[in-house]
Amino acid sequence: HAKGEGRNTCRFFAPVMNQQVSERLAMENNLRHALQQNEFELYYQPQFCFATQSVIGCEALLRWNSASGLVMPDRFIPLAEETGLIVPIGGWVLREACHQAKRWQTMSSKPLSVAVNVSAVQFRPELVDDVRKALASSGLEPHLLVLEVTESLLMSDVQGSALLLEQLRALGTRIALDDFGTGYASLAYLKRFALDKLKIDRTFIMGIPEDKDDSAITSSIIDIARHLNLETVAEGVETRAHVDFLHAAGCHQAQGYFFDRPLPVPEFEKRMREPSEPALVFEKEVGRDG
Ligand code: C2E
Ligand code: MG
Ligand code: MG
Ligand code: MG
Repeated sequence: HAKGEGRNTCRFFAPVMNQQVSERLAMENNLRHALQQNEFELYYQPQFCFATQSVIGCEALLRWNSASGLVMPDRFIPLAEETGLIVPIGGWVLREACHQAKRWQTMSSKPLSVAVNVSAVQFRPELVDDVRKALASSGLEPHLLVLEVTESLLMSDVQGSALLLEQLRALGTRIALDDFGTGYASLAYLKRFALDKLKIDRTFIMGIPEDKDDSAITSSIIDIARHLNLETVAEGVETRAHVDFLHAAGCHQAQGYFFDRPLPVPEFEKRMREPSEPALVFEKEVGRDG
């Protein structure tokens, strides 16, 4: 009986594994050609500023229009990193985002910043040149480009990363620490690295306001950031309760489905032409200091 089962198991698993391996190979092969075939597209998610009560920037998020449908970054970025393809892909993202932000700068009187995610694999001395060239060829003002890095990326080589960040900042670009609070960086590194913004990870925002720990962590991050002269951006803001808590806690910017999903260029532009919804207008604060 057991023997028979074992044989069945073997017969059952082998084809599944083969299928997974061949799917992966096919995906890798397709990914390899995706750039040439123009299959990548950047979606842009608006970032809302509490002080001006308006959209002041956006984050560029990569999408792959593959032959078999739209593929989200979590499904192909890891493979792109393993194969090194993230370097040319990331270069394309950088150039495309800079050109798009420059177009928006020319179209409207209101400048919009654009944030670009940088993979650990891309984070090497050559990146400085790539950024310089992307800025030069697009004509985008450097301060409108924000580079998003993660704690784990910085911690893998603290000295090298600190130097690279200095060089990127010397170009005039700004640096944001993405998914803050989920990595291993100690608070001391906030001082050590040349940073401009902290992005509070979505996992903390999700628990607001019911989860007292998430709420306390979020307010504390905002306080620390303020004392260190860093701007704060809350990620994954989905509800009015999130918005009210963050506004009261002194967070600078918010990004999330409450405001907008990541949008393709035409939809993003349509959104920018619309006035902000009345629901987003905050009451004047009264009675706080008597
Ligand atoms: P991330 O940089 O932390 O980007 C935020 C992610 O949260 C995006 O997922 C965004 O669509 C999603 N998001 C935004 N607002 C909300 C919300 O209110 N609720 C929820 N549940 N999710 C929200 P996306 O676009 O799937 O990207 C996932 C990750 O892939 C990004 O996380 C980033 O690490 C990576 N990624 C995206 N584009 C690029 C790229 O061009 N280069 C590199 N290296 N990585 C990228
Ligand atoms: Mg990001
Ligand atoms: Mg993030
Ligand atoms: Mg993330």
